[in-house]
Amino acid sequence: MTQASIKTTMDDAFLLSIIVPVFNEQEVLREFYRRLSQVLDGIDATMEIVFVNDGSTDYSLLQLQELQASDPRIVILDLSRNFGKEIAMTAGLDHVRGDAVVIIDADLQDPPELIPQMIEEWRHGFDMVYAQRRSRTGESTLKKTTASLFYRIMQRISRVQIPVDTGDFRLLSRRAVDALSGLRERHRFMKGLFAWIGYPQKAIPYDRDARHDGTSKWNYLALWNFALEGITSFSTLPLKVATYLGTFTAFGAFFYGLFIIVQTLFFGNPVAGYPSLLVVVLFLGGIQLMALGVIGEYLGRMFDETKGRPLYLIKDHLLAGGEAEKASANERQ
Ligand code: UDP
Ligand code: MG
Repeated sequence: MTQASIKTTMDDAFLLSIIVPVFNEQEVLREFYRRLSQVLDGIDATMEIVFVNDGSTDYSLLQLQELQASDPRIVILDLSRNFGKEIAMTAGLDHVRGDAVVIIDADLQDPPELIPQMIEEWRHGFDMVYAQRRSRTGESTLKKTTASLFYRIMQRISRVQIPVDTGDFRLLSRRAVDALSGLRERHRFMKGLFAWIGYPQKAIPYDRDARHDGTSKWNYLALWNFALEGITSFSTLPLKVATYLGTFTAFGAFFYGLFIIVQTLFFGNPVAGYPSLLVVVLFLGGIQLMALGVIGEYLGRMFDETKGRPLYLIKDHLLAGGEAEKASANERQ
């Protein structure tokens, strides 16, 4: 690991921001807040806890407002609809002011108890301190295998090194947050973006708990799309595959051609079989469609990016004490 200069904020008071993306978490929010504040009470810092309500359709927002009434550290960012966790985190990152910023899930799968340790490492000069899973309780073998396979493939084909078995639970330094907010792509594969910015990074191993309550918002289709997003955002390898596959097939065809000529010269010319012809036609047709599909995946993403729409819209930006910051659509793009 790289080491960096010791922070000048060493003994000074600092502002700690916690970002919590929330989407339909009414079952766990109170318990989450209880455990989080227990941890935070032991930390000597000024704090803000930014809950980003990502278009919840249950009582999450109401519960957050109740919590806010008794805790002035709480800020609620209410997005105009569900934008997905990646965008919700981005909205949070855009609105925090902390010297150190922690992103944590609301479902208690990320233990808040790890935060003091993260701050410790941040004080040692690391810009990004991420929690690395040692185990995943309460997740099926299939999910574990597919997840580990995905991380390993990503590591092989992309230009950035994405740490294995790492979620979004992490602490970022101010300059890391600033660097991240410069990356405004629509297709946000956060794990990749975190890795992209570089800076000194440090892993803290932990055992991932099962969800405290409620259900995971991910299904296999979502995970597949997530993987596709990761690969297309950070690698152009699939685009190259078509080139190599094409070259390979062309070579094959050339030698097969030679073979047929030789065969005809020496053994006469029996009419070649219809089945082999069909196989070749179908094979090539399949490869061409696949290559088109791959190009389409990238083209579609370019289409989305060129529209340049804002990443999210904020309905309400609620500060403690009933204050509401005027939410504006164009605050940030
Ligand atoms: N989340 C969100 N928007 C979404 C889906 C999820 O803000 O569209 C939040 C959710 O409330 C939780 C975190 O992201 O705090 C992780 O979600 P989940 O537990 O469903 O994901 P998993 O842990 O299964 O990866
Ligand atoms: Mg979870």
